[in-house]
Amino acid sequence: MRTAAALLAVMGFACFAGPATAQDDVDRLIRAYLDHLERRDGNDLVWKDGTRMRIDDGIKGKSADELLENPDVDDMFAYAYPSAFPAAPPQTDPGRIRNAAFFAKMYGDCAAGGVSKNLVQVDWLPRHKGGRVSINRINGVDRKLAAVSAELDALPEPLIRYLIPSAGTYNCRAIAGTRQPSAHGYGIAIDLNTAFSDYWRWSKVGWRNRIPAEVVAVFERHGFIWGGKWAHFDTMHFEYRPELFPDR
Ligand SMILES: [Zn+2]
Repeated sequence: MRTAAALLAVMGFACFAGPATAQDDVDRLIRAYLDHLERRDGNDLVWKDGTRMRIDDGIKGKSADELLENPDVDDMFAYAYPSAFPAAPPQTDPGRIRNAAFFAKMYGDCAAGGVSKNLVQVDWLPRHKGGRVSINRINGVDRKLAAVSAELDALPEPLIRYLIPSAGTYNCRAIAGTRQPSAHGYGIAIDLNTAFSDYWRWSKVGWRNRIPAEVVAVFERHGFIWGGKWAHFDTMHFEYRPELFPDR
């Protein structure tokens, strides 16, 4: 009986534990990028080369725009990335918040020419002659994208039209309408066929998606998040963000 009571107590605790704490977020970040990150020390994230980055800037109650424009390291976890395919239009932008200093240190600063040297070519759906795409080799993103490509290449033929031609990977630019670098500037993102893309800036009908769930599932299995799960949706867009998948 004591065991059962203890188990119930543990379950009760889990139920009332509430949202993830900053500690959980930082642990998750370190686990996702073990090649680069070493530990947390107070409010600092400590990199393997000794670099320290402040985790929480102490600014409370940032608006959605402020989170996008001026996020600290912990703000990247402001919205949980949902595992389920959207049953209704998303209300938040999980993964769209990126701390530029964090990603520039990891992948390079494209504006300073720091990303090109890390780019390698990956065959995109070679069975279907999808051409080659440039992707960052840091963190093995190139190998992850090659694994995605191999799985997509084996999907039923009617799904292939969504995948080729790719609308591009590396592109050193800001997110439209912001000063924040795009994930494409780090060489960790890929866009699928624009013919089946829906984008919040161009949409007249609100959230809409034509990308099949099977395609999204393949990317997510390899640590890529999907822009179709954002309120500011961009359904052809995928980017490597393993820290947003909690069970890895
Ligand atoms: Zn994109």
